[in-house]
Amino acid sequence: MGMTMMYRDQEVAAGSIGDVFRLVRSKSATSRSSIARTFGLSPSTVGLRVDALQRLGLVAEDGEHESRGGRRARNLQVAAAAGFVVAVEPGVRLLKLAIADLSGTVLHSVRLPALADQPPVEAVATIWAEVAKLFQAAGVPFDRLRGIAVGLPAPVEYPSGRVVLPSFMQTWSDAKVPDLFAAHTDVPVLVENDANLVAISEMSEAEDSHNDYFLAVLLGRRIGSGLVADGKLLRGFNGAAGEFSHTPVAGPSVISCVCSLESCLESVASGAAIAARLSELGYSVDIPSDIIALGRSGDPRVLSILREAGAQIGTVLASSVNFFNPRRVVLGGALSQSAPLAAAIRAELFQKCLPVAAQDLDVSAVADPDTAGARGALRLLLDEVLAPARIDELARVALEESAQSA
Ligand SMILES: [Zn+2]
Repeated sequence: MGMTMMYRDQEVAAGSIGDVFRLVRSKSATSRSSIARTFGLSPSTVGLRVDALQRLGLVAEDGEHESRGGRRARNLQVAAAAGFVVAVEPGVRLLKLAIADLSGTVLHSVRLPALADQPPVEAVATIWAEVAKLFQAAGVPFDRLRGIAVGLPAPVEYPSGRVVLPSFMQTWSDAKVPDLFAAHTDVPVLVENDANLVAISEMSEAEDSHNDYFLAVLLGRRIGSGLVADGKLLRGFNGAAGEFSHTPVAGPSVISCVCSLESCLESVASGAAIAARLSELGYSVDIPSDIIALGRSGDPRVLSILREAGAQIGTVLASSVNFFNPRRVVLGGALSQSAPLAAAIRAELFQKCLPVAAQDLDVSAVADPDTAGARGALRLLLDEVLAPARIDELARVALEESAQSA
């Protein structure tokens, strides 16, 4: 299977089977007559398109609503149970998995102990076994798996899915994750940087999303970011766009970093660095919520560490905002919930960036940082698995097969 072939990036003919499915999926047309009007197609052509989608099992026609002519029209909708997709997030502390149907509804999710130091081949085998268990737990047939998306805390080369310089899980460096999954399955496997997934979860779902212009910042154990311009994710030439956390700052470093630069932001102000500084002072810090709880306690030594880290992050972020001029900055990751840290980032950002870049800038936190990565992964995956070009291809293959058997 070629990872270089991303169906979602391919254009299709207006009103093709896949294009009709896109319309039904977006709920912008839910009857045959509205599809016909949208594309200027004859009712018989629309009938052929809908029949093809029904033969693929992708749309269901049910319910009735009043059509304009007073006749009863039936509603078309995505046959949600026709397939299932899985989001996988291997993290430092946890391995998270979530399964959703084709409408994007999450059916079940699990949080398991982290893969720790498992090298990629073993790790992928473990993940694959967990995917099977997830289907069992959700009570849906495993043979309807349509795709897997893996979110990793590292830059990921696009579209090959090769992992570049991970902050942890060092044995994953250079691993081509989709190729490792190919030993187990031939469904599409997408691999994406974790901060990019947070950005995707925040992208506007409106058809007219060209004005969507933002920077999503992941504040977790590490610091990452995803850029969205004109409603599109910007990955950069090698997939490393948004890696602003390796910018050298005043310091001092309290942890080592893979980038090997002296006092990069990540080694000074990331969640791992904050935890290290708190531990040095004798605080017991194990999970991100410990940092958040300590910040809430109002302990001045803790507050000063959080404010210093926030100021360092805000300073580097300000130069990114000046350069990129986003409409919004969205803070994600567990530490976006730390009020003193977020307040310090915001204060420094507005103080340091240009008035023209700051005047309309909105700084907010993602609604649910714990599930943002999974939501982004499932959305990315469904856009690929149900891409109009892929549906057209499935319809073409189905037609050929029925012609051969006839
Ligand atoms: Zn670094």
